[in-house]
Amino acid sequence: MSTVTTSEPVLPMVLAEVEVVSAERISPSYVRLVLGGEALADVGVDGPLLDQRFKLVVPGPGGALTSVDGADQTWLATWSARPVEERGHMRTYTVRRLDRTPAGTRVVVDIVVHEHGEPGPGAAWAVAARPGARAVVVMPRRGHPFGGIEMDPPAGADLLLVGDETAVPAICSVLECLPDDARGAAYLEVPHALDVQDVRRPAGVEVTWLVRGDRPHGQAVHEAVRGHLAAVGPRVGDPAAAQRPGEPDAGDVDPDLWETPTWSSSGEPIDRTPQTGEHRLAGLYAWVAGESAMVTGLRRHLVRELGMDRRQVAFMGYWRRGVAMRS
Ligand SMILES: Cc1cc2nc3c(=O)[nH]c(=O)nc-3n(C[C@H](O)[C@H](O)[C@H](O)COP(=O)(O)OP(=O)(O)OC[C@H]3O[C@@H](n4cnc5c(N)ncnc54)[C@H](O)[C@@H]3O)c2cc1C
Repeated sequence: MSTVTTSEPVLPMVLAEVEVVSAERISPSYVRLVLGGEALADVGVDGPLLDQRFKLVVPGPGGALTSVDGADQTWLATWSARPVEERGHMRTYTVRRLDRTPAGTRVVVDIVVHEHGEPGPGAAWAVAARPGARAVVVMPRRGHPFGGIEMDPPAGADLLLVGDETAVPAICSVLECLPDDARGAAYLEVPHALDVQDVRRPAGVEVTWLVRGDRPHGQAVHEAVRGHLAAVGPRVGDPAAAQRPGEPDAGDVDPDLWETPTWSSSGEPIDRTPQTGEHRLAGLYAWVAGESAMVTGLRRHLVRELGMDRRQVAFMGYWRRGVAMRS
């Protein structure tokens, strides 16, 4: 006699309700949440996590959390069609760490407390979250393609990692995942001196924390990157290079800026033919993420002014001043 077992079809991602296990204000600009839940045991990727992103759905006005009961592949489409009071808000964050503990798998996420203005629903929820608070996550399931990792340097590349406070979790995770013989530099701009973290890194990757203080967002990191690249010989006297750091032209900011060696938000064709001739920045791989104006300014410097090959860079607008994330 044969036995037929039926089970729920497995979604290619982990879509599950999770609970805040601990919430800690680790510094003026960060709340660290540790999330737990049975379904997290299936979270994982084939390889290092690097800058792995995931979706967090927090309760909407009224405090109701969206339901994932009986969710199937159509969940996302039907979720977004629901009223906000029912569906809540979906935001993107980085897996700072994935810890397998005797009590279960824990996802660690560092959420920025907005420096100025009203916090959005994501930041507000994180600041108020206490153990027991619930949210929904969409995360990679082990053994299934998920995407969401952009850091993909060629072997032996000289690395340049640049970000503001929202990219600190990703850069710290990348630094911890890199092989021991990796080399390069990382520049991280944070609002306060107390936001500087101790992070494990390969000996060959120099890490510089830049405290913003009263300077405009992105200026410190922009100046630091210009200085760093000057050491490898930028074009001196380029009129475009005389533009003030961190200040892209008005109207020049691409709100959806997302350009990697394999994807362009602007629809710019990706040239896959190998570059001929020797460029002075050949061998450099840059990963830049943060507020869109900051990223746009650095993109202009690296690609337009210094002529870096688009296939050596990943530029990602993680948020845009004055604009809430779409959800
Ligand atoms: C791939 C990826 C990974 C990310 N990883 C992280 C992460 O690990 N940690 C993290 O904190 N963020 C991360 N972000 C950024 C985060 O998704 C945005 O900051 C998001 O807008 C926060 O949602 P919210 O509900 O708090 O604000 P929203 O509702 O989106 O925005 C409300 C208002 O707040 C402003 N705002 C948004 N973010 C900030 C900010 N950081 N500082 C000041 N003002 C802000 C907006 O301009 C808007 O005016 C990531 C983004 C991406 C795309």
